[in-house]
Amino acid sequence: MKTLRHISGFLLLSAVFLASRALPVHAGNGDLKFSTVVIDAGHGGHDPGCVSKDGRTREKDINLDIAKKLGAMISAGYPDVKVIYTRTTDVFVPLITRADIANRNNANLFISIHVNAATSTQAHGFSTHILGKDKFSSNQDLVRRENSVILLEDDYSTNYQGFDPDDPESFIFFNLMQNAYYEQSLSFAAEADKEMKSGPIPHSRGVSQNLFIVLWRTTMPAVLVEVGFMSNPSDLKVLNSATSRSGIARSLYNAFRTFKKEYDASLDFTAEPSSVQPPVREQPSQPVTAVQDGYGVQIFVLGKQLKAGDEAFRGYDVKSFRAGSVYKYVIMETSADRARKLFRKVRKEFPGSFPVQVKSGTVSALQN
Ligand SMILES: [Zn+2]
Repeated sequence: MKTLRHISGFLLLSAVFLASRALPVHAGNGDLKFSTVVIDAGHGGHDPGCVSKDGRTREKDINLDIAKKLGAMISAGYPDVKVIYTRTTDVFVPLITRADIANRNNANLFISIHVNAATSTQAHGFSTHILGKDKFSSNQDLVRRENSVILLEDDYSTNYQGFDPDDPESFIFFNLMQNAYYEQSLSFAAEADKEMKSGPIPHSRGVSQNLFIVLWRTTMPAVLVEVGFMSNPSDLKVLNSATSRSGIARSLYNAFRTFKKEYDASLDFTAEPSSVQPPVREQPSQPVTAVQDGYGVQIFVLGKQLKAGDEAFRGYDVKSFRAGSVYKYVIMETSADRARKLFRKVRKEFPGSFPVQVKSGTVSALQN
C-alpha cells in the first residue's frame, strides 16, 4: 500500500509536470525571458532563527548578509534582472508574505537562504531543498524548525489553515499538485549543490524534497538552501567570516547564472513559431538509447535530453527513454530484486527516484 501511494503520488506529479510544460512560463510584460529573482533571507526581527552557542551569531543576520551579497552580484552581472528581497533589514516577515512577494512580482526564481543547526556539533555542511515529500528524508527536525516560524506570526491559524508544524505529514492540503515547478526547482538545486561543493563550506548533504511552507506557497521554481551548520565549530567560523559569506554568495550566483542561461535557452526553443514544423525524421525514437528490456531505477524526468555522462547522473551509467515530451532517466539493472536494492542505495542521491521495469522502451513503476 505504501508503494502504491508512492507511485500514485509520482504519477500525479508527472501529470502536473506534463501539464505545466504546455503552459507559458511567467510572462512578466510579455517578455518570457528570465526577468525577476526573489531572494529570501530567512527569519528576522523577533525571530532570530538558530543562534550560536555563545549567542553571538544569529541565523537571521547571516542569511541577510548572504542574501544581499548574492543580490548585489546578480544586479552587477545582470542589470536587466530585477532583484527583489523579501527583507533588506532586520524585520520579521511571515512565511506567507515572503511567498506572496515572489508571486506578486511574477518572479522566475525564488531562493531562500538559511543556516542549519543540530544538537550534535558533528553535523556540518550545506544542503539544498525543493518542495516535495521525500519519505526517506532524515530532515524532519529541520523542516519542523523552519516551518515552526509561523507560530511566531499573529494570525497563523487563518493563514495556514490550521497547519501544525509539529506534524508536517498531517497537512493534507500540502499536496504535490503544487509542485508544477519540480523540474526547474531541481535544476537550480542541483546547480547550487554543484557550485557550493567548491565553496567555503564544501561538504554537501545533498538535494532533498521537503515540505517547507515557504516553498509550497510560491508559484515559481523555488529552492531553500541551508548554507551550513551554526552548531558546528568549523562551519560557524566560516559563517562568521565576511569573505567566506561572499564565497557562499558567489557559489549561489554561479548557480544562478547557469540556471538563467538554461531558462532563457529553453524559452527560445519553446518560442519557436508553430508554423515551422520540425521534420518528423529528426524526432528521437523510443527508446533514445537502444537497451534491452529489464529493470532499473528511474532517477528523474526532464523536459530535455542530457548527454551520456552528464554531471546530473553522478557517475552512474544512465539510459534515457522518451515519453511524450519528456525523458525518463534510468539506471539499468538485470533483475527486479537488483533494481530494488539499487534503489535503496541511490534514493538519497536522487530524491523522487523509484524502481522501474523497462519493456519495449516503456518505463513503468515496478509493482511489489
Ligand atoms: Zn532557518
